[in-house]
Amino acid sequence: MLKDNLYAVKQNIAMAAGRAGRNPEDITLIAVSKTKPVEMIREIYDEGIREFGENKVQEITAKSAELPDDINWHMIGHLQRNKVKTVIGKACLIHSVDSVRLAVQISQEAVKKQITVPVLLEVNIAQEETKYGFSAQETYNVLPEIAALPNIFVRGLMTSAPFTDNPEDNRQYFRAMKQLCVDLKAKNIDNTCMDFLSMGMTNDYQVAIEEGATHIRVGTAIFGHRDYNI
Ligand SMILES: *Cc1c(COP(=O)(O)O)cnc(C)c1O
Repeated sequence: MLKDNLYAVKQNIAMAAGRAGRNPEDITLIAVSKTKPVEMIREIYDEGIREFGENKVQEITAKSAELPDDINWHMIGHLQRNKVKTVIGKACLIHSVDSVRLAVQISQEAVKKQITVPVLLEVNIAQEETKYGFSAQETYNVLPEIAALPNIFVRGLMTSAPFTDNPEDNRQYFRAMKQLCVDLKAKNIDNTCMDFLSMGMTNDYQVAIEEGATHIRVGTAIFGHRDYNI
């Protein structure tokens, strides 16, 4: 049962928070429902979850049309500039701003719609070739530039740590992300509020919580393995 999966995850969140001396309520669980049908999302919704994560604009559009309006959809995947228009206003938070060009596009469309769009900057903290995101140094350089754009509000940082069987391998990266976030917050840049740190997935969310994650993005542990062939 999905419900049992969810409660196991919640239990683990509480324990990880406890180990770190943190309040579990300060950690937002985002249920990553990509590729999963609305029936499964509804099951988790009925258990009280309102934050769901998707990596495709098309899935957010299709699923949000069929599900209750009080769901907060998180855009967590690479966002193409031609999809920006469709997703802003629908997603509560775009976790994956990985270029200045994308930020400019979000800003321009947000101005047209007269809304303000909250975003996170995606950091490729382990400098993996296959991943999107700024390096730590680039993040320093681009934050003031992105924050200065109209109608965009930088809430913090996001990362996807390397895939590993041993979550301890990623502790160094989560720690580096927390430090980066603290350093950027200390710069007190207008139009930023560096209080969101989105990191930790099924394999490593407990370590991420110990190292300061405020948002964890958990798919497989809740919904089971994804079948990309359907
Ligand atoms: C798929 C995905 C997740 C969830 O991964 P799981 O290992 O299934 O928990 C989290 N973040 C991003 C960016 C993803 O694409």
